Parts: sequence; C-alpha cells; structure tokens
Amino acid sequence: MKHADTLFWNVLLIDGSGAAPAHGDLAVVGDRIAAIGDLSAWTAAREIDGGGLALGPGFIDSHTHDDRAILGDPADMTCKVSQGVTTVIVGNCGVSLAPLKSTTRPVAPLDLLGDESWWVYGSFAAYAARLAAQPPAVNALALVGHMSLRVAVMGEELDREARPDEIAAMRALLAQALDEGAAGFSTGLAYPPSRAATTAEVSGIATPLAAHDALYVTHLRDEGTRVVEAIEEALEIGRTVGCAVVLSHHKCALRENFGRSRDTLALIERSSAAQRVDLDAYPYAASSTALLVELLRDDLPVQITWSLACPEAAGRMLADIADEWGVDQGETARRLQPAGAVYFSMDEGDVRRILAHPRTMIGSDGLPHDRLPHPRLWGSFPRVLGHYARDVGLFPLETAVHKMTGMPAHVFGLEDRGVLRPGAFADLVLFDPATVIDRATFADPVQAAGGIAEVWVNGASAYTPEAGRVTAAAGRLLRRRPAL
Ligand code: ZN
Repeated sequence: MKHADTLFWNVLLIDGSGAAPAHGDLAVVGDRIAAIGDLSAWTAAREIDGGGLALGPGFIDSHTHDDRAILGDPADMTCKVSQGVTTVIVGNCGVSLAPLKSTTRPVAPLDLLGDESWWVYGSFAAYAARLAAQPPAVNALALVGHMSLRVAVMGEELDREARPDEIAAMRALLAQALDEGAAGFSTGLAYPPSRAATTAEVSGIATPLAAHDALYVTHLRDEGTRVVEAIEEALEIGRTVGCAVVLSHHKCALRENFGRSRDTLALIERSSAAQRVDLDAYPYAASSTALLVELLRDDLPVQITWSLACPEAAGRMLADIADEWGVDQGETARRLQPAGAVYFSMDEGDVRRILAHPRTMIGSDGLPHDRLPHPRLWGSFPRVLGHYARDVGLFPLETAVHKMTGMPAHVFGLEDRGVLRPGAFADLVLFDPATVIDRATFADPVQAAGGIAEVWVNGASAYTPEAGRVTAAAGRLLRRRPAL
C-alpha cells in the first residue's frame, strides 16, 4: 500500500492544460501531487469522495492589487481563496508596495494600497523578507511598479518626463528588485503620476528586463479612443527592451469605442507572430479605480466605492449625490476626495470577445481595501466558470479553467503550478461545475462564491464554505522561472 496525506476518489479532473476533463483519483503527499489515475492501492490520512465534483489546479489571479492584503491576517484573503484562487500576481498598474518608503499618504492611485503607515519597504528584499517571516495565505509573484519608482526618485515632481539621471536611478532600482526576486515591471501610463512619462522613459527604465527574462506588464496609456495607439506603444516597448508584454485588464472603454475589440485583438494576434504578447481581463462591463475628475462624463454612470471625506457615499451613484448637493459631478467628486469609484464604461460584446480570445487570462483587478468594492474582488473566477462558461456557453469549462491556471502559469513562469500532474504543487480547488457561481453584485459586493467546496494551498486545506474564511497561511513568495 502507498500512503498519501490527502486522497481524492473519483473526481472530475480538469488538469489546467485545456484538455477535456476525465474521472480519476489524485493523491497528495506533503505540498505536492504524488499520483493521478486509478489509486485503489493507496490509503490516506484524509480521503475525499469526489461524488461528481471537479478538481482543478488552484486558480492564478493574473492581475491583482494584493501587495498589502497578503501581508495581513490570512482571513484578509478570503475574497480570493473563497473563489478558488491560490496564487496572485501583485504590483500591477505601476502600483507596487516595494520599493518605496513614504512618510505621507502617497498620491492616487498609489494610495489604493494604503496610507503612509504601509509604505515602509525601501527594497524588494525587505518586502520579500516580511513575506518569508509571516507567510501569506496564497502564493504571490510580484512586479515592480513604475509609479512607485517615480515617487521614490522624483518625489512630488511627477508632471514631467524623467531626466536621464532619474531614468538611470529608476533603472538601478528595477535591476536590484529583479535580482531580489521581482518578476517584472508594471506601468499605469493612464494615471496622472505616470502620464508625463514618455515611451523612451519607460523603455529606458525597463532595459534590465531582458537579461532577467522578466515581463513588461502594462495598464495602457489609453483604454478608449486611442487604445490601438496605446497597444502599439506597449508592443514597441517590448521590442525595444526585448521582453514579453502583458496587456492588463484589456478593454475598449466609452460608448464611441464599443466594438473596437475586433481591431485590438486582431492587432494583438498579428503582433504575436513576431513578439510575445498576452493579456488579461475581468468578467464585467464596468471598471474601478480611484475617483478621478478627468474620467467623468455625463453619459458615464459612476458608483462610489469609498471616500475618506464622506464615507457614507460608498455604494451611491455620483449623479445622485451631485443632485442632492446641488452641484455638478466634477465638484461632487472633488468634495469626496480621496475616493474610489466604479465606472460603467464597457460594452458586453467587447467583454465577451476579449474573454474568449485564446491569449486572454483571467485577472480580477480587485481592490481589496475599498469599502464597497467592485464585485470582481469576490466574484471574478466563479463568474467566468458559472456564468460565462456554463450558462452563456462562451467556452467549455476546461477552457475557462485553462485561462485561470495553465495559461497564466506559462505566461508568468510559475514552475510546477497551474497544472494537475505528479510532482506539481498541490494548489487545488474542489468545486461543483453544476452550481459554481459568483454571488457578489454591485449593490452587495462582499459575497463568497457558490459551489466552491474546498481549496488547498501547497497541500494545506485553506478554505471551506463552512469555515467561511481562510484558515491557513500556506502561501509563498514565488520567483519567475520562464519555460524555455
Ligand atoms: Zn490598471
């Protein structure tokens, strides 16, 4: 007899590769999958009868702002683990907690990670040491944010292009962080603290990516009228530097741009013959970020997610508050600062076309510290599985699972993750394909998914709906190991 720690009998195995599901048994020993197939000769400390449930690799959230959330109590990550997420990519949109020290609340949107008390990691090594000393609830791979580097090097003078000496200083900080384990460089070129950066500034900072085989991950300069030019800029940076590119939370925002995902996806496809380019998306037709006055338009519905000046505004529509106060939306937004918002800016047809594209991974872009967050924080993965794959029929279940496991593991270089095979890490999610569904809504966004039975991180049981919260801190800071 062979002995396992955990043994799954007769589960529907969805292996993360995109291959059709197959019934079988799976054994876990320690933090790894030990065997898959007919395991009737095995015994185990804990045996789980699948009874029609599906077992997949733990989901990888390709796009998060969990830099700070993974430092807190493991229960702070219940928003993700309750969906089946076992690994998060942090440091997106130019916003990373390391390397930046600040004694004041940083400029928006950097402050989405927290006030001045959180900006204490002057190096990536210091951030990594904190995660090693106090393990996170999930595995994490971290990017270094351009906006954080700009504030570290340029202080408050952010409305201009960096000088050559400043570009050199940011490049040195990036190179050091890559040496210390960061997986790439992210930008958020649409945001005021980064907008003045030229293409040459970004390429100039990003040069160390090539030698480290690290990634350039970008929230594009424009996701609306000039989205095609913005994609071309990102591709140019990837070619100049000689690195792979990931386009973050791809969308075509604002009414006049509805339908343009046909053009953007065609451009991405054409380009992918000559350079590595991938993308992520979340399954909603609304975005969320800081409440920025320059984003407001009369035809764009906006819902407040948090406001320091007026906490009771959270959950309300900006237009309703403006009516009540007898001022326009711009003035209302100024009075709510600092604040966050949901923008109902996308077309459902574009959302579906982008989600279904073969190079699109799932990334929640959830904002874990918002008072009434966009529902993507708690709902993205079950919504893709239950709503888009099962109910809408946008793609088969195994394709949905691939977009949240094998595909991001390959793009981000997560060795032995995102796959069910002997030797791989036992990041696992047991769920019911017939009932899995998101429950978080724009009105009531803090809701765990339905149909997730149990989640394991590195072999440790980390979540059950009965517990209702994360019960283990079994995650690790990961290093990128690109497959050749
Ligand atoms: Zn972003």
